[in-house]
Amino acid sequence: MNAFDPPITRQTFDEVMVPLFAPAAFIPDRGVGSRVWDTEGREYIDFAGGIAVTGLGHAHPALLQVLHEQGAKLWHIGNGYTNEPVLRLARQLEALTFAERAFFANSGAEANEAALKLARRAGFERYGARKTQIVSFNQSFHGRTLFTVSVGGQPKYSEGFGPVPADIVHLPYNDIAAAEAAIGADTCAVMVEPIQGEGGVIPADPAFLQALRAACDAHGALLIFDEVQTGVGRTGYFYAYEDTGVTPDILTTAKALGNGFPIGAMLTTASIAEHFKVGVHGTTYGGNPMASAIASKVVELVSEPQLLQGVRQRGEALKAHLARLNERLGVFREVRGKGLLIGAELGDALKGRAKDIVTAAGQAGVIMLMAGPDVLRFAPSLIVPLADLEEGFVRLERALTQVLAGTA
Ligand SMILES: *Cc1c(COP(=O)(O)O)cnc(C)c1O
Repeated sequence: MNAFDPPITRQTFDEVMVPLFAPAAFIPDRGVGSRVWDTEGREYIDFAGGIAVTGLGHAHPALLQVLHEQGAKLWHIGNGYTNEPVLRLARQLEALTFAERAFFANSGAEANEAALKLARRAGFERYGARKTQIVSFNQSFHGRTLFTVSVGGQPKYSEGFGPVPADIVHLPYNDIAAAEAAIGADTCAVMVEPIQGEGGVIPADPAFLQALRAACDAHGALLIFDEVQTGVGRTGYFYAYEDTGVTPDILTTAKALGNGFPIGAMLTTASIAEHFKVGVHGTTYGGNPMASAIASKVVELVSEPQLLQGVRQRGEALKAHLARLNERLGVFREVRGKGLLIGAELGDALKGRAKDIVTAAGQAGVIMLMAGPDVLRFAPSLIVPLADLEEGFVRLERALTQVLAGTA
């Protein structure tokens, strides 16, 4: 039997896939820049970027060239050997950040898993067996492995999976007093997102991050910034920490790093990295030449000051569109975020309706993202043409008007 016969439709998903997702009714087929076409030939403006991943849009010519060149050379060799693309990538990331050492994985969750294991190991070796406490924050999101859902602050993701890793506490985000009270001699790490992405696009107060830094320093704990969503240009800075006045000990990055080709990384200092010795942690695919070559080109392009400046300008343009939309429809309670990671919290008229709006937006020709039931999230390409932003907002307004009128 030919696997492509009978025809593939959205219904096929329900017949062949583990039912973990509820994908849209249409099936995206190809994309160029900020536009995507589905299998029926309908065109969409992409305001989601595959969840803040395709920072350089779809089918970027320079990335296609690297894909072809590296694809013809070497895809995978394993970590018994190193390769030039991964070493070049580590050099680039270290030149751009506080970091002096890098570990590569295939996803954000894996980068965070490595960060948490490294923090536990460093605490054990430096201070002894009691230094295991990990401090995290309510609504935070750090990935879907058992360790990362346990550290994440959304209990629905860790319930029902049996015993979870121990000695993890969750505190209110942006609550300095609670953090200062909880962080102590047994704390080995504090993990925080500079802007909570999945949790509703909630920025950290710089004073809160500064207080975490001070408390970590006072108690010999490592400060981990999860920049899986905020990193690689998303906020108008290559990493969001640059604009907070706080430097972490460990930074994790993924999502936009490969523009859709799976790669994640954990960045840290030389002295902390020493606690991972040969064989203590590992990966098969992590740091493979294919992903590394692509990420290297992404880093080169996104770290250009002009591109980052453009992200800040586009972010202002996006906020201005949201303000005008809100003047006409009065649907948002608050607009927040930075650069091109923007959340629009729905007011009373549409409270809890983010999913309905995303569905209606798809029908109107714009691919949208939510961050919980009350927040529309915008994470378009970092180089989205202003005309595509404008057209996307025309379509989004159509969708919102229909949902408001009950005709979506
Ligand atoms: C998406 C995300 C992750 C998980 O990344 P995966 O690649 O899905 O494993 C972790 N942390 C943050 C902040 C994220 O946004």
